[in-house]
Amino acid sequence: MGTARQEFDIVIAGGGLAGLSAAAAFGARGMHVLCVDPAPPVIAGEAAGADWRTTAILQPGQDLLSEAGLWTRLAPHASALKVMRIVDAGGREIVPRLSRDFDSADLGEAPFAWNLPNWLIRRELAARLDELATVDFRPGTGLADLATRETEVLARLGDGSSVAARMAIGADGRNSRVREALGLGARRIRYNQKALAFAVRHSVPHGNVSTEIHRSGGPFTLVPLPDRDGSPCSAVVWMESNAEAERLAALPPESFDAEATARSCGLFGPLELVTERSLWPMMAMMADRFCGQRTALMAEAAHVVPPIGAQGLNMSLADLGLLLELFGTDPETLGDAALLARYDRTRRPEVAARVFGVDLLNRMSMMEPQPLRDLRKAGLGLIYGISPVRRIMMKAGLGARGK
Ligand SMILES: Cc1cc2nc3c(=O)[nH]c(=O)nc-3n(C[C@H](O)[C@H](O)[C@H](O)COP(=O)(O)OP(=O)(O)OC[C@H]3O[C@@H](n4cnc5c(N)ncnc54)[C@H](O)[C@@H]3O)c2cc1C
Repeated sequence: MGTARQEFDIVIAGGGLAGLSAAAAFGARGMHVLCVDPAPPVIAGEAAGADWRTTAILQPGQDLLSEAGLWTRLAPHASALKVMRIVDAGGREIVPRLSRDFDSADLGEAPFAWNLPNWLIRRELAARLDELATVDFRPGTGLADLATRETEVLARLGDGSSVAARMAIGADGRNSRVREALGLGARRIRYNQKALAFAVRHSVPHGNVSTEIHRSGGPFTLVPLPDRDGSPCSAVVWMESNAEAERLAALPPESFDAEATARSCGLFGPLELVTERSLWPMMAMMADRFCGQRTALMAEAAHVVPPIGAQGLNMSLADLGLLLELFGTDPETLGDAALLARYDRTRRPEVAARVFGVDLLNRMSMMEPQPLRDLRKAGLGLIYGISPVRRIMMKAGLGARGK
């Protein structure tokens, strides 16, 4: 390695929403962080490759982002999500036959979540990292390899340089290089299902209600966005079997608008596409362990779930919350084997429960046979009707930890 190597407290592989949040949070606590990613973040909505999915950040995630100095940047762009409406449209016609509102007012004053476009979250995260003298963010450079020792980790980067750190965090997505370097396996569930993500304009205001419509193939979810040119707008995630999702993605916009309007039961008036459609293969995945020597896995490097109930990034922020609790006050503790084992022991069962819950909801939403769809409708009515159960479900959805 001829040249002098650089030393950091933490090296983070991955500058997706999770890795950038981790860099900001540890950097704000005075730790010296290097964050690397081979793909520079696309930070303009109009730019090619802009990520027009949105993320609903739940209350616990918002607390964490506030502490990292991020929430003041995000809040002006966020749409509050106060009510989650679940609609069953699983009868013979595509019409609502049961609709139930889960209202955040039942739990307190704050909304369930705040919804933001992903490209905008990336823009604000990158701007926050620019402010932090403690963080070195190197977009365009990936992690090539990771070697771990008892006293440090050695990261070889895509540009040929090497850095040493007390601890590594793998936030490098579902095909994690870090997970591979640690020799960790992962269990996967494949669904033969894809999600179409896009945004629409509509005539009926959303009233800060997120609406999830179940029929078959998977949920059709509309999440509030700020108005565009005076028209109400929503982000949509529409899950269908692979073949059906691909057919829908290839339709001309006018035919697509008509099919999307029908699938939404016309609840918001005619829907009109205002963005590209992106297609996302659906899977669930969990790494066999969330840590290795001096290394923690977080976010999609550790777990993937289908986008139901806004769990994905919020589970990642819960990983980050625990990493900050364990390592965020004293750099000397970074990489400590006992603390990493505690991270794995605490997070893995919590994540397993969520993967199980989301998998179940997804399978229920995919159901084709009419009797099963009728059973689903009856189940929703039953859960909703028992208010303590309803509140427990809402708290669990927000990520309450059973400490
Ligand atoms: C359609 C859809 C809608 C969703 N909606 C929501 C929602 O409403 N709420 C929610 O909480 N979650 C949602 N999610 C989930 C959420 O988007 C993801 O959980 C989250 O973006 C994952 O972030 P990540 O940073 O782990 O992964 P990624 O975004 O995949 O980031 C991984 C990063 O690692 C980088 N990388 C890869 N290899 C290397 C390497 N060798 N070295 C360094 N870097 C590397 C990649 O370039 C990438 O930038 C949704 C997901 C989908 C598909």
